[in-house]
Amino acid sequence: MSELLIRGRVLTFIDEPKGIDDTASYLTVDDGAVLVRGGKIAAVGDYAEISKTAGAGVAVADHRPHLILPGLIDTHLHFPQTQAIASYGAQLLEWLNTYIFVEEQKFAEPEHAAFIAGRFMDELLANGTTTAVAYCSVHPQSVDAYFTAAEQRGMLMVGGKVMMDRNAPDALRDTPQKGYDETKRLIGKWHGRGRAQYAISPRFAITSTPEQMEMAQALVAEHRDCYVQTHLSENKDEIAFATSLYPDAKDYTDIYARYDLLTDKTLLGHCIYLSDREISVLAETGAVGVFCPTSNLFLGSGLFDRDRFDRLGARWSVATDVGAGTSFSMLETMDEAYKVLHLQGQRLSPLNSFYRMTLGNARALGLQDRIGSLHVGADADIVVLDSSGKSAMELRMRTAKSLTDELFILQTMGDDRCVSEVYVAGKAMKKRKATGAARALETA
Ligand SMILES: [Zn+2]
Repeated sequence: MSELLIRGRVLTFIDEPKGIDDTASYLTVDDGAVLVRGGKIAAVGDYAEISKTAGAGVAVADHRPHLILPGLIDTHLHFPQTQAIASYGAQLLEWLNTYIFVEEQKFAEPEHAAFIAGRFMDELLANGTTTAVAYCSVHPQSVDAYFTAAEQRGMLMVGGKVMMDRNAPDALRDTPQKGYDETKRLIGKWHGRGRAQYAISPRFAITSTPEQMEMAQALVAEHRDCYVQTHLSENKDEIAFATSLYPDAKDYTDIYARYDLLTDKTLLGHCIYLSDREISVLAETGAVGVFCPTSNLFLGSGLFDRDRFDRLGARWSVATDVGAGTSFSMLETMDEAYKVLHLQGQRLSPLNSFYRMTLGNARALGLQDRIGSLHVGADADIVVLDSSGKSAMELRMRTAKSLTDELFILQTMGDDRCVSEVYVAGKAMKKRKATGAARALETA
């Protein structure tokens, strides 16, 4: 079985950091190593010790002095919006109608879907993200393109066909029965095939009739091991419209609760304007509120109240929400998360940011045994971060005094230029891709 020894400064979380300097929450090894065998982590610790347990002549990838962390995880984004990122001047509902519902129609074309799916996966990897949870378009062929591109790269990806049967252009609408049948067929085809995981994906209450919500309810009941993803309470006009369509519901959250869509496998994008009652419902059901800071700022939606989630015991995760989110980089996303919380008098410590991008998001997905931390038996999804990846960072790093200083510089100033390498199930992906691009240039 093939072995690889990845050498560098190892950093991995054991639990959620309780303060700015909670050294018990993580493991760090200065001259550390991760031994990869057959795509899994076989050992983690001191290089000197681990190198003895490795087989004779094992290949060594020496990344000193860079940091070696688990691959980053993004819990909400839209793969058909890859080319609609940076669309000017609108808030949520106008932005959907003006840009997104036009863009997503292109995904009826399998060749276009395949091209964007490949570029989407490569963007994630270039930014150090090895697992993401994405919406596809309404077209089943977009789901095939998505999981095919993930499978070609060996990535653990979660995704699903958007279900929507109203308040969208004809070309993007399914029907309650069609949405059910297509989702059912796609679950059968993809869920659990290799590393693929399916998410049942009614887009949001505005674009699904009560009849479609009943079909989503049936799908969730029939496939308890699949994820559920939708959007909740992002924008004030959206909330008014959604609740007007479901006049019997107590509030927006209750719309989903009435159709049994809230479980501990449910991811709810945004959750900005929830009442205490609604957050308590998330706490009771285990559903996860997904904080998407660059998107919330870009669309002028509002500020996620992390402290209220913590106080009421509800789970939350972080995500880019590309294409309303403005970057594929989880580092840039945590930079904006810090600012969004700061505006509300809340603190996000550097340790907590890095916990959230890795083990925190893995726990939100219930995948902490497989990804999100460097432990024996985990999948070898690993990112190598260069804290001096930009010249201004290199200069700033000269005055850094601690690991938390370094992590804060990485999150505040970093982007894909700080991702020195990324491994998917033990295979190096970034340098390989860069070499491919260089070759394409030579032959052009
Ligand atoms: Zn979204």
